[in-house]
Amino acid sequence: AHLARVAEWTGPGRTSDGHHVDILANVQDGAGARAARTTAADGVGLFRTELSFLDRDVEPTVAEQADIYGEVLTAFEGHKVVVRTLDAGSDKPLRFATHPDEANPALGVRGIRIAAADRGILHRQLDAIAAAAEATSSSPWVMAPMIATADEAKAFAADVRERGLTPGVMIEVPAAALLADRILEHVDFLSIGTNDLAQYTMAADRMSADLAALTDPWQPAVLALVARAAEAGAAAGKPVGVCGEAAADPLLACVLVGFGVTSLSAASAAVAGVGARLGQVTLEQCREAARAVLGTAGPLEAREAASAVLG
Ligand code: PEP
Ligand code: MG
Repeated sequence: AHLARVAEWTGPGRTSDGHHVDILANVQDGAGARAARTTAADGVGLFRTELSFLDRDVEPTVAEQADIYGEVLTAFEGHKVVVRTLDAGSDKPLRFATHPDEANPALGVRGIRIAAADRGILHRQLDAIAAAAEATSSSPWVMAPMIATADEAKAFAADVRERGLTPGVMIEVPAAALLADRILEHVDFLSIGTNDLAQYTMAADRMSADLAALTDPWQPAVLALVARAAEAGAAAGKPVGVCGEAAADPLLACVLVGFGVTSLSAASAAVAGVGARLGQVTLEQCREAARAVLGTAGPLEAREAASAVLG
């Protein structure tokens, strides 16, 4: 019966008692965005721009980047699109941006940290996003990956606002989750990347199959940081989304809504399952499940506690 409801889910995202949650898609290029458009996703919650450039030796020009970004904006014309600036380094090295031969790439110069040494790559990408926005008459939100400090958020926000775009940051470093309230003084929204947040909270490589139990997004310590960031967003009256794998798990997605998360972004294939599951529970059930998981000591216990409430 549940699978039948998944097949039928046509949006919009909401709980059975009508609490609205944006259900969005994670995409990496125009083709992916056009495929996502055939689902009931309300928009794009994470456009991973770096994945278009994994095979490049030199930085793509502003015009070429604008064309690629424009394809995604066109596919979701009139809808929310969140563009992430290059998350180069670690598991996604780019030859034209990443520092070679780092001893610990996951703890190295990746994401927004590249801009500390060379702001030009970021500025040219923001110029390209602004050009694509203008060409398609759209207003994308733009967020930076791997933000660790409020100062990084402040500098990024200034660069984004200067181009007439809406700035936000990803919360994927525990320090950023802990200081989310201070970061929100500078940006208009947060998007929690649970894949990296789990990696850095648990000190466990997200690529290691041996450590998969540690990087499980149901780890209560990870969920406590998600809850903290969501609370900071609610206090500031600003949206907080989740775009990591946690948002693709229908049961966990309900828990995230219980924390106060305002949007869920997942791979296209997971969108209908999340939307359908959310439609079967009330907001109060989500909140009760959220309280229950925060009192658990491990991922299995957390999952059971959520299931007990959400069915
Ligand atoms: C994340 O870290 O959860 C995330 C969404 O970003 P990526 O998986 O691209 O690092
Ligand atoms: Mg990440």
